[in-house]
Amino acid sequence: MKPKSRPHDPLKLDMAAFAAEHGEMAGDWPLASMQRLAESAVPEASTDALVHWQARGELRPLAGGAAEIWLQLKADVRLALCCQRCLAPVEETVALDRSLRFVPDEQQAAALDAELEDDVLSLERVLDLRELVEDELLLALPLVPRHAHCPQPLPLAEAQEPADERPNPFAVLAGLKGRGGAGAG
Ligand SMILES: [Zn+2]
Repeated sequence: MKPKSRPHDPLKLDMAAFAAEHGEMAGDWPLASMQRLAESAVPEASTDALVHWQARGELRPLAGGAAEIWLQLKADVRLALCCQRCLAPVEETVALDRSLRFVPDEQQAAALDAELEDDVLSLERVLDLRELVEDELLLALPLVPRHAHCPQPLPLAEAQEPADERPNPFAVLAGLKGRGGAGAG
C-alpha cells in the first residue's frame, strides 16, 4: 500500500497536490541543515544564520481544462562570506524569488527548460523543498563577495597589483645594505 502523500511536509512535497489546493508554506531552516550552503560561508561567523523561505503552489488554467503547475519560491539568508579582497568576513544577504514550472516527466522538463526562461522541473521526482531552496541559494551566491570598503587597511604588498607581489630584488638588496650600514655604525 502506498503511503498517503503529505502535501504539508515541507521536505517532501507532493507538488501536484500542493498546486491543486493553492498551498502556501513558510518557515525558517537553520543554515546548518544545508551543508553545501554552509560550506560556502565563513563557519564561525554564520553559525546562527537562518534561511527564511516561502513557497506557494499555483495552478494556471489552460484552454481545454488542463492546467500548468507552478511553484513560487522565495528565500533569503544573511551569510558571512569571505571577502575576496581582504579575506575578512563580509555580510551578504543572499535572496531568491523564482517561478518554477512542473511538467509530468523529465523529457518534457528538459525540452521546455531549454525553451523557456523559467526553470522547469519534472513531477516524476518527489520534490525535496529544502534541497531545492539550497540549490537555488547556491546559484544566487555572489561570484566575488567583497566589502564595498574593506574594514582594515590592506597591507601594502596586497594593495598592489598581483604582478607586483614578488619582492623587488633591488629593494631587498637595499634593505640588507641599510641594515648592514646601521650595524656597522
Ligand atoms: Zn574586505
